[in-house]
Amino acid sequence: MAIRSLNQHIFRLSAGLVVLFAVATLINVWLSTTEQAKAQLASNLQIAQSVFTQALESRQSQLFNSAEVLTADFGFKDAVNSQDSLTIDSVLENQGARISADLMALISLDGITINSTSEVLKVDSQFAYNNLLEQTYFEGGANAILLLDGKLYQTILLVVNSPTPSAYALVGFEIDKFLLDRMKSITQLDASIRVSDKQSKNLSDKYIASTLDHATMLKAVQQTEVDISWFDFTLHSDTRYISKAFLLEETAQIKIWVVLSEDVERLFGEFNQLQIEVTVIALLSVALSLLLGALVAKKLSKPLKKLSRIAQTIASGDYDQQITIDSSTTEIDELSSSFEIMQRKVRERQSQIAYQASHDLLTELNNRYQISHLITEMFNHGKAFQVVGANILGFRGVNDIFGYHNGDLCLQVVAARFKQLGGISARLNGGEFLWIPTKTYTVEQLVEIQHQIELPIIIEDVVMNVKIAMGLLTCPQDCENTEQVLRRLNISLDEARSSPDLLVTYHQDFELRYTRRLAIITQLKKALLAHHDELKLVYQPKLELHTGAITHAEALIRWNNPLLGFVPPDEFIGIAEQAGLIGQVTEYVIKTAVRDAKAIQLAGLNICIAVNLSAKDILDPKVLKTILRHVKNNNLSAACLSFEITESDLVADPVKAVVELDKFRAAGFSIAIDDFGTGYSSLAYLKELPVTELKIDKSFILNLHEQASDQKIVQTILELANNFNLGVIAEGVENQQSLQLLHDWGCRWVQGYHVCRPIPVEDMLDWCKDNLATEWFEQ
Ligand code: C2E
Ligand code: CA
Ligand code: CA
Repeated sequence: MAIRSLNQHIFRLSAGLVVLFAVATLINVWLSTTEQAKAQLASNLQIAQSVFTQALESRQSQLFNSAEVLTADFGFKDAVNSQDSLTIDSVLENQGARISADLMALISLDGITINSTSEVLKVDSQFAYNNLLEQTYFEGGANAILLLDGKLYQTILLVVNSPTPSAYALVGFEIDKFLLDRMKSITQLDASIRVSDKQSKNLSDKYIASTLDHATMLKAVQQTEVDISWFDFTLHSDTRYISKAFLLEETAQIKIWVVLSEDVERLFGEFNQLQIEVTVIALLSVALSLLLGALVAKKLSKPLKKLSRIAQTIASGDYDQQITIDSSTTEIDELSSSFEIMQRKVRERQSQIAYQASHDLLTELNNRYQISHLITEMFNHGKAFQVVGANILGFRGVNDIFGYHNGDLCLQVVAARFKQLGGISARLNGGEFLWIPTKTYTVEQLVEIQHQIELPIIIEDVVMNVKIAMGLLTCPQDCENTEQVLRRLNISLDEARSSPDLLVTYHQDFELRYTRRLAIITQLKKALLAHHDELKLVYQPKLELHTGAITHAEALIRWNNPLLGFVPPDEFIGIAEQAGLIGQVTEYVIKTAVRDAKAIQLAGLNICIAVNLSAKDILDPKVLKTILRHVKNNNLSAACLSFEITESDLVADPVKAVVELDKFRAAGFSIAIDDFGTGYSSLAYLKELPVTELKIDKSFILNLHEQASDQKIVQTILELANNFNLGVIAEGVENQQSLQLLHDWGCRWVQGYHVCRPIPVEDMLDWCKDNLATEWFEQ
């Protein structure tokens, strides 16, 4: 189906209906007027026929009266008896003139015309209608229409008795054009007289008289079709008359017809005007309806078109249009207000979406996306501003301890505290916030704010104490763009977390450290995956002072990276712990240390290898299993390996650490507390720890020979260890004096450059053999 506009549809429908209606009306009018005209015609003809018949009857009685007067006249009778022709003529003339008869005649009993006033009946001629004379003789009178010398006469015949029948008197009127004209003046119909001669061989009719001229008459009498319609008349201009014939008289010789002709133009004339008026009205109403249809269609389709344009504008994202539709149609009005509602709802939803897209739904602060946008704008406007990053320390712990619901409430409280400060606040993720103050704050003021935010959070019965790490950036000095702001804020927060008062102002070194840290993580991952021998173990022998023997050696990791060069273990071990890589590092160390221990044993030496473990290793149950597997696989005993753990590592989760260390001890391994003296462990705690040795930190040893305070500390540690029955190792012995002092004070082992630097296992084997007989002290 072809698609048309509403406009076209409405127009077509209304116009079509009206045209249909108009045509139907016209046809109806045409048909009914034709019917009417036909009825009129029939009635006209009927009336005319009866008028004609009556006229003839009235003439007949006139003729009868005149003939009676004539035949009763004694003078006339006398004249007939006496055959006084002159008197008879005079009487006939007088009597004929009285009634304007066209024919007066006296006929003898044997049918000879005696006297006549007209040439049609010649004197002495034989009267043609013998039967009629006979009828007249026996009945006393007769009437008839006679054709005499081509003319038609209405006649009456009476017997003249004087006193016996002596002759016939004939009186007649001619049936001629004069009569027909009179008839026409009454009936408005044309009339023609037709005579058909029965005797004549050719049956052709003869027309005696007519109100029409001959040519018209011939055409008119042909048209007897009664089924005439207005169309025929309108379309065929020659159809002018409708005729109807009726038999006037029939004698033995002739038939006389009267043909009445109705002028159709006259008949339809009165209807014609009506037809034209109806047609004009129909055409006008069609035109009017087309116009109205067009107007209505336009009126309907105009607001629809406007609404369609409005919908397109809404679709293109403009929700602020004024929707005004001039319409007097309820449906259009409703549609228009629906559009308004739709626009409003879309606008509301749009702003809701925009809000959700730009805000953190939990705290109703700006989200990361939105704050980035705002910071970019501030840069674009060349503004100077501070950015404060804040992080709830161990927020995951808050969730674990207090539950997610309280965790959320905690975030909301912290968010509200930031909001109260004014300026712009945002939550970046987890427990991380960003705040852009409206004025510039000093570090001291920030510490104040930090304390405000750290105030205990009390929700019902729960009290949550949070620690907030803060990093401060000053733009544009510290950062040039948004990306830098977010990145450096992150770095600063990392620094702040490990800074003593949890607050740092950004320094460019942060960035360098951060980059190096990232590089170390990336490269270490690679080093652990690809067995490129980037990682190595070196060993540093431990000298047993009272025997002078090398009974122990510490395994120390070395990393040479093609990109970063030599990376000291102090640097990358901590990073590996934070990046979750320490497990793999430890696995490598254990595997290599056990392999080397086997090599040492095979070389005939009895040296226990000390492996450094980090706190994460201790708490990871897999580590001990790995160790035992490797030891078993190499057919070694637990005496070949020992472990060093820093004091600070144990402090993080002392209870669990003790449990795990017990397992190590149960497996037969000895354990030393590394870097002893730098931590804060209490003596009571020390007593609980399942360790076998204390390793005095090198910071107390390096200058032991000249530092009285260090000497005091070392002596105290030695005394303490003695009380707890723990063996003591001193590391960082760089000179003979220190070695001597430690020996004199009864320290069991020393380790240091003065004895030997950390060296590869093969070198250590050589070194051990070379130093079997070394005298470490002057005798
Ligand atoms: P640490 O366990 O305290 O190791 C002793 C450190 O002191 C070693 O540094 C060693 O080379 C150094 N040292 C020994 N004698 C002297 C001396 O006379 N003077 C001076 N100035 N230093 C001396 P290194 O090898 O750089 O190791 C640093 C730290 O890295 C170690 O401290 C240890 O905590 C960690 N580390 C090394 N290897 C491993 C390992 O395989 N696993 C784990 N978890 N940590 C390791
Ligand atoms: Ca160590
Ligand atoms: Ca140490």
